[in-house]
Amino acid sequence: MIEGGCNCGAIRYKIEGKPVVVAQCHCKNCQRQSGSAFSVNLMVPVAGVTTTGELTTYEDRDTRSGNPVHRRFCGKCGSPIFSDLAEGNGMTIVKVGTLDDPAPFAPVVSVWTSTKMPWVDLPEGQRGFPENAG
Ligand SMILES: [Zn+2]
Ligand SMILES: [Zn+2]
Repeated sequence: MIEGGCNCGAIRYKIEGKPVVVAQCHCKNCQRQSGSAFSVNLMVPVAGVTTTGELTTYEDRDTRSGNPVHRRFCGKCGSPIFSDLAEGNGMTIVKVGTLDDPAPFAPVVSVWTSTKMPWVDLPEGQRGFPENAG
């Protein structure tokens, strides 16, 4: 069982099942939303996610891929928690920094390296894609 939550503790979540992939995303939306150079995103089947507390949802229509994304965050402390495609694909993205123990979830791939900040180096051996992977 994977668990995590926001900075203030209003949001807690549990994830059952195996993560599909862990990716660093260097898109402009992730940079703005995280206030940092990139997001580390854990993709999991949405059916295995249980949340306590009320998430606030922002529908982000100005995405690099052109697909609207629901960005779900704690309305009290602002921590970004999940994002998922507005049209739905059975998956949700968990921001790895909100996991209680992110250590086991090293990102295996980088996406949107076309907007990667020049002072960020990819970890050795990690594959990078200029836009979405595959
Ligand atoms: Zn919070
Ligand atoms: Zn992104």
